[in-house]
Formats: sequence, structure tokens, C-alpha cells
Amino acid sequence: MKKIEHIGIAVKDLKAANNLYSKLLNTAPYKMEEVDSENVNTSFFQIGESKIELLEGLEDGNITFYSQGNFTDLCKGPHIPNTSKIKAIKLLNIAGAYWRGDEKRNQLTRIYGVSFPKQKDLTKHLEMLEEAKKRDHRKLGKEMDLFHFREESPGSVFWHERGWALFQKLINYMRGRQDAAGYKEVNTPEILDRQLWEKSGHWEKYGENMYTSETPDEKVFAIKPMNCPGHIQVFNQGLKSYRDLPLRITEFGKVHRYEPSGALHGLLRVRAFTQDDAHIFCSEDQITSECLEVTNLILDIYKDLGFENVILKYADRPEVRVGEDKVWDKAEASLLKAVKESKLEYSINKGEGAFYGPKIEFVLRDAIGRDWQCGTLQVDLNLPGRLDASYVDKDGTKKVPVMLHRALFGSLERFIGILIENYAGKFPFWISPLQTMIIPISEEFNDYAVEVSKKIKSAGISSSVDLKNNNLNYKIRDHSLAKIPLLLICGKKEVDSNSVTIRRLDSNKQENMDIDQFLKTFSALNKASSN
Ligand SMILES: [Zn+2]
Repeated sequence: MKKIEHIGIAVKDLKAANNLYSKLLNTAPYKMEEVDSENVNTSFFQIGESKIELLEGLEDGNITFYSQGNFTDLCKGPHIPNTSKIKAIKLLNIAGAYWRGDEKRNQLTRIYGVSFPKQKDLTKHLEMLEEAKKRDHRKLGKEMDLFHFREESPGSVFWHERGWALFQKLINYMRGRQDAAGYKEVNTPEILDRQLWEKSGHWEKYGENMYTSETPDEKVFAIKPMNCPGHIQVFNQGLKSYRDLPLRITEFGKVHRYEPSGALHGLLRVRAFTQDDAHIFCSEDQITSECLEVTNLILDIYKDLGFENVILKYADRPEVRVGEDKVWDKAEASLLKAVKESKLEYSINKGEGAFYGPKIEFVLRDAIGRDWQCGTLQVDLNLPGRLDASYVDKDGTKKVPVMLHRALFGSLERFIGILIENYAGKFPFWISPLQTMIIPISEEFNDYAVEVSKKIKSAGISSSVDLKNNNLNYKIRDHSLAKIPLLLICGKKEVDSNSVTIRRLDSNKQENMDIDQFLKTFSALNKASSN
């Protein structure tokens, strides 16, 4: 049997390759053959040494091959019965990949493609990809002057004034919601002694993703990848009784986690990020009510931010776990109850919970149909005991509290990336990073423009004045590209009538409004709908 020669392929070849596929489709069935690993004849292979290496690394036992026509390959399967079942296919891109992720080894070419059972579905998917390209948060982030990245700090965001304003708006909004829901905000150190991470188990389980630092006194510290151990230290201050529970501790905690540079992707995958983290310390009897409250809060906040389409993923006990079964029963029943009461679409992932407790993942569906896993709610029957947390119960006995880990956005950085793409940069007024830009039509009206801007700011609406020397059309184009929702144009007419002329984003119409009326109208829009 002849070996296939390696061929180079570039993006420009994909179209031709895509056209070839229809000629290859036929009804010849895929045949599966099982061979004992000891009896494999390696000369059988058509695509070279990598497959032989792969084969040698496989465990002893039966190995499966698939053949179609005169082509045979090592493959685990399963396959569709034959290639005539493929109705629509599109090769999308290529990328270099090192064999087994090792940059000293050969570089292979990975070809990305998609297939759908109907042409209609493929067309829909390609339209979605086109739309996603237009909404790419890295492109919009630049146009809107929100943030940038640099080689000197891979995966860490340099927030610009407007991006940071958006970031702070989300935090302030969350603060208000959490305060009303009885959370207590704290702040814990970013750098903690190695010994604490050893005790919590992170050093062993998570060590390779942690940044460490050795100080001149030869102590080793780690930069926190999570806030949980810090929050237990706060809980451990002072004797706690059942009357202190549930204790809801929250922090906008900056964490650092090492990710390979190839995995980084704008705001969506970073190495340094801010979690909207909270840990709820409660008794076993409080698990159900706390889970319900957390779920309701999360869903309500998503709704405020424009995500009504949420899917829940519930995962229960894995085989290897800590904690007594009766506590698992309670924790699982509580989470499942919260899932069911939400009346949302959900899936049950059997056995996929963490070793320390069951969890719910909250998946948001965005404006163009993509799913993003953001929030989590996890019951933890392990860490509080490991880090010596306890409270005195009604009967005077010492008990270990249950801890719920909860995040809504997950990472604020990533959530902002999702928000940008969901809205294509055109945010609802209340979270727009810069809400108004005042444009005087000539220098003569600069003073009036500055005065209007001050009034708007004092009403809690963000505002800036464009005093540059460019013409009006240029300014309108520029600020529209930056997706500023309201451009307020000021000239003689506006000065005389103490008004502004409003030009809304994506509209060619202009409307004149008295300043007082403007402040009244837009102050009312300057908050989340639930407020
Ligand atoms: Zn946690």
C-alpha cells in the first residue's frame, strides 16, 4: 500500500479543497476493524510516523481501524455510515500545530471545517461567523478606545479611560445588588504564603497554573488564583455562632492564572482577571434557601444586562468524592430544586460535579446564538474543614459550615468581552462607557458646550466635549465609530434656547431638546430596569 506524501496547504487552497469534497462523497460504507495491538502491521499506515507513534503509545488491547474504499486509518470512531450522508461542508481555516504540543517536534497543519445535515443550517452558521467577525471585541475595543494588550504582559488588560468606566459601572451595579441581597464586601491579599496554598490543596492540584514569588527572606508566596482560601481566613476571625449564618462574603478579587500563550484570546481568555466572587458560609439546613436566592439573583442580573436566554447545567456527585452521602443528598436536592424553580432549560451532567460538591453552571445565549458559560454556583463540603472553619451550633457543639462558591460574571474581563460582542458595542444607555459627547459647531460655542457638559455630569450622566479643530461631519463619524449613544450638537440656536440638538447613534435624525428636559429624560434611562 502506498504512503501518502505530505502536502502543504494554505488558506488560499481551501476553496479548491472544499470543491473537491463533493466528488469524494459516496455510499461505500466505513468499515471498522478491531486488531489486537500486538498484531498490528505498521506498514499498513498511509500517513506516516506520527500515527505509528500514536499507536505505540496506546494501551494494550484491541485497537480499531476504519477503512473507506482503499483508505485505512487508525481511528477510535464512531463514524457516520458513509460519506454520502454529508450534505453541506465548509473548510474554514488552517493553523499550524506542533505534534503533541511540543515546539521541538514537527509542525502539522490543522484544517478547520464544519459540516451540517442541511445546506440551510450551514448558511445560517456562516452568517453567524460573519456577524461574529464584525462584533469581534478586540476590533471594537480598539474603535471604542476601551483597552489594549501588550507583549510585556500577555493576557493582562491595559484598560483605557472608557473601558475602565464600563468596568466600574458593572462593579457599582453589582455592589448595589449584592448589598441589597445581604452580602458583605471584603478585600483580601493578592499574595499569600505557599503554606496556605498547600493546606488548601491548591498547591498540589493547581500549582502549575499559579504564579509564585520568592522574597529576599527566602519565603515562597503565590499570587492568588482564587479568593476562596482568603475568604475562609475572614470567616475564621472571631468565634462564629449559628446566628452569624448565612454569612455572605463577596470580593471583586483580582486573580492570576497561568495559561499557555497560544490559548490567550483578547478579553475572553486572559491570565489576570477580576472575579465577582462570593462565598456563602451556611449550615446544612440553609443550603436550599441560599441556592435559590443565588440562582434568582444571578438570573435577575443577567436579565438587566440583556441576557434572558439562559441555560443551566447541573452536575452531581462523581465517584471519587469527599463528604458524607447524606450531605451530598441534601446539597444535590437543593441545587436541583433551584434549577427546576428557575423554569429554564437545563441539562444534568451525571457524575461531573467537583470532588467536593455538586454545581450549577449558567450558560448565556448571546444575540447571535452563541453560548457562553459565565456564572457558577458550587456547594463545597471540603475546603471549610480543611482550613479549620467552624461555628458553634444551637446545641453548643462545634460544626463545620458548608460553603457555597458563587460567581455571576465569572471574570469581569471576559464578561465585558461577551457584552461587547452581544451588543456589537452598542450598549444600553445605562452601561455605555461614555454616554454623551458635546460638539460645538464652531469655537464660538465652546463655552456653552463646556457648561452643558458640566450640567450633564452633575446629573450623573457621563459626558465629554470635543473641542478639536475638526469639522462637524468628521466628529460625528469619529464618535459614531466609538459607539457613543448621544452626540449633542451646540450652535447659535441651542445657545439662544438653552437646548441641545441630539443625534442618536445609528440615526440621521436630529431632535432639539431643552436642557432640563434632556436631564430629566436621560436620568430616567440611566439605571438598570430592575432598579
Ligand atoms: Zn471559591
